Amino acid sequence: MATQERLKIGEGYISGYICIFLGVLSLLAIFCFHFPEYLTTAEFREVYTGEMMRKVLIGVIIASFFFATLSFMLSHKKKLALIGILLCVIAIALGGFQVQARSVEKTVWSIGLDWLLLDLLILSIIFIPIEMVFPKRKDQPRFHPEWKTDLVYFAISHLLVQLFGVITQSPAKLLFGWMGLEPFQHWVQGLPFVFEFLLALLVTDIFQYWAHRLFHSHVYLWRFHSVHHSTKAMDWLAGSRTHFIDIFVVRSISFIPLYVCGFSEITFNTYIIFVSIHAVLIHANTNINFGFFKYLLVTPQFHHWHHAEDPAIYGKNFAIHFPFLDKIFGTYYLPGNIWPEKTGVREADYPKGYVKQLVYPFSKSPFDNDLKMEEKSER
Ligand SMILES: [Zn+2]
Ligand SMILES: [Zn+2]
Repeated sequence: MATQERLKIGEGYISGYICIFLGVLSLLAIFCFHFPEYLTTAEFREVYTGEMMRKVLIGVIIASFFFATLSFMLSHKKKLALIGILLCVIAIALGGFQVQARSVEKTVWSIGLDWLLLDLLILSIIFIPIEMVFPKRKDQPRFHPEWKTDLVYFAISHLLVQLFGVITQSPAKLLFGWMGLEPFQHWVQGLPFVFEFLLALLVTDIFQYWAHRLFHSHVYLWRFHSVHHSTKAMDWLAGSRTHFIDIFVVRSISFIPLYVCGFSEITFNTYIIFVSIHAVLIHANTNINFGFFKYLLVTPQFHHWHHAEDPAIYGKNFAIHFPFLDKIFGTYYLPGNIWPEKTGVREADYPKGYVKQLVYPFSKSPFDNDLKMEEKSER
């Protein structure tokens, strides 16, 4: 089955792939239960309970069997459903239905496999149906050609969440940790929740707007950020393609106002949940345009224009949350209900795969070939 083709509903392939996907999640989740000190994140363990996760795991295994049955009924090829069932049977054999979460001591370093599995499950439940029912580009295959690379980006940024957190929070702590910010932070925490939340979105968006714009205007930094723009098939997973230098710098800068303002825990957690869903939504392959709200909050249409392949539109729509920031700073572009014809970087030549894209910008510009071509034609 060529994954380049758009999968059709009713043929049993979609249910087959969902069954395998859920089977993989179940199997990896079992390892989280057995080795929590190495594979789960201390911060997240405070948010969920082992009993909650056990119920989610049972639900995922049952859902996997349901999709396997559906695939059996719809498809002549039984391979996909059989693989999914095999994965679930292994998960059950390893204790899937009766596994108990152990309480663990806080370890210095651990891998965020729990965060990866939970976020992947939640985002898939939200975005796979949205992209199936309301797609923007109907001709775009559900598995675009570089989806595996994008999944690696997604997995690494989640697995290394602890390391990424320490690195991106350090500059703010170093620069502002010594200041007596408590009175100001008490005032911020005393604001009504809605104001505090909107303030968190606004201040971080102002900082990230300029960090983002810097990555577009500085030639050397653009090498790193253009990796994010290299995606030709925009969808909910493609948004995770971001070079780690880009992540470290932009997140470090955006974290400064969060640290200085010292938002209350509920506001901070709501902000993190909102950002992790909203950042995925704006890259999604969906034509949902949110009516009048598209002028208040960044939508897929707004951010797809930021990714437009047409050089005439480069350098627009840097904001991640509030389009009015682009209005104020003169970079706003949102023409009616029109979408960019293509996304990507027209003149660039990118290597394929996570490791090559990771190393490449340090030594070469993706535009080198283009420059050489120009030099040759000038001569
Ligand atoms: Zn950009
Ligand atoms: Zn983007």
